[in-house]
Amino acid sequence: GARLWEMLMNTTLIKELADVAKDAALIHGVVMRIKETPNSSELVTYAPFTLFPSPVPKAVFHQALAVQTHFNLLVDKISQDSGFLEEALASTIAVDDFTRRLFDIYRSVLKEGRSQSIVLGLNRSDYMLDQREDGTSSLKQIEINTIAASFGGLASRTPDVHRSVNQHIRSTQRLCGRFSLGDEIEHIFWGTFGINWNCYSWSTPCHSRAVVMFLVEEGQRNIFDHRYVENELWKRKIPTIRRRFQDVCKTGSLDQDKRLFVDGQEVAVVYFRDGYMPQNYISEQSWDVRLLMERSLAVKCPDISTHLAGTKKVQQELARPGVLERFFPDQPQVVEQIRATFAGLYTLDMGPEGDKTVAMALATPDNFVLKPQREGGGNNIYGSEICQVLEGVKESTERTAYILMDLIHPSPVHNYLLRRDASLQVSKCLSELGVFGAYVRQGKDMVMNECVGHLLRTKSSEHSDGGVAAGVAVLDNPLLV
Ligand code: ADP
Ligand code: MG
Ligand code: MG
Repeated sequence: GARLWEMLMNTTLIKELADVAKDAALIHGVVMRIKETPNSSELVTYAPFTLFPSPVPKAVFHQALAVQTHFNLLVDKISQDSGFLEEALASTIAVDDFTRRLFDIYRSVLKEGRSQSIVLGLNRSDYMLDQREDGTSSLKQIEINTIAASFGGLASRTPDVHRSVNQHIRSTQRLCGRFSLGDEIEHIFWGTFGINWNCYSWSTPCHSRAVVMFLVEEGQRNIFDHRYVENELWKRKIPTIRRRFQDVCKTGSLDQDKRLFVDGQEVAVVYFRDGYMPQNYISEQSWDVRLLMERSLAVKCPDISTHLAGTKKVQQELARPGVLERFFPDQPQVVEQIRATFAGLYTLDMGPEGDKTVAMALATPDNFVLKPQREGGGNNIYGSEICQVLEGVKESTERTAYILMDLIHPSPVHNYLLRRDASLQVSKCLSELGVFGAYVRQGKDMVMNECVGHLLRTKSSEHSDGGVAAGVAVLDNPLLV
């Protein structure tokens, strides 16, 4: 209330708290390399974060955690349903080159026959709160990321930073009573790799020294987020290596049993932290290497079908009546829990349904987001730009590269966004809650299916798009209210 606003406007206090917070971030390892030297750890800085945790209603927080194992199952079921993937993505791959190339890999792997029956899924389902004037908030899924979902490592460290800030406020201002950051759930994310590494060892002969390969980007500012995962693996005596597409191009190969070798080391698990956007495939060889890895006996996190299950077109198809029922025929309560998180999603396929979507978007563009099949932030289209884009493509199949989605309206909250290159000023902010899911399937058996952590990201309300890596959002923690 008034007391909080007074604190937000107390510039001396804010400056003091910001200094405390930045030091706490460095102490607790909420760090990133600087953008000028993304491949060196000589100069690092705190990963951008909010000065204060942002309020999230307890009920929706727990709703998001509770639905995660269902989303894990859903993604996994989609990934095994080639008929559904073919149908859902048919119109998209006809016009979107990137998705088509992924789909070509999927088809050729299907045709050859999958060599590995172990599946490792690590995803992050992202939500915003649709907050009405009557005070109700409903949890709406923005998207689910089935490849390279990041910040699981750093997010496990951010609660300590806000606890330090809280300590400082308590001792100087005598403010804040209850303080729950919702971090009681364990980050067991990392253990999943161990399970897979073991599974791989059991199911294939003689390679106790097989490694987990992190497939990494050219620019590696966010390396510490990976290092947390690597550390957990090292603790479990699981060897890891880090390689880029171009490294695998040079030294990757399959033996006659389709075991994957890179630099002479057998790879048990390929963990993709790259390969999710067109720019990641710098040459034709990158595509060849993706295919090589997909064909191999290595466990892929994710495999190509799970990658495709995370596309925005699939998300839109899932929102059609009856589609969730196809995946959960005897579980109406699961269907209901998942569907409750769906915002309005609309097809732009050719035909009367798509025509209706076009008309609706052109009439009230401010109610929607137009999304292409892209990841990594900064690709979506909003407001009047929706009209410009749709006017250009509405008569052609080009429009099927996109989907349309209801714009979600969270209530803005004031906070300070701390980042190296920005001045300290109060911003109106919007938050997005991510929930991490992990699962392991061996053949038909789900060996593990868990909700393994969460991430809150917050951005200034001036920006309609973009994540932390895109330089728009910053790390945060949910203050359960
Ligand atoms: P990406 O895969 O690039 O992260 P997203 O669908 O997550 O794509 O969109 C990027 C960002 O755009 C989100 O983090 C969110 O800030 C904003 N956004 C996306 N969809 C919506 C929506 N329906 N309502 C409000 N904001 C949205
Ligand atoms: Mg995404
Ligand atoms: Mg996103």
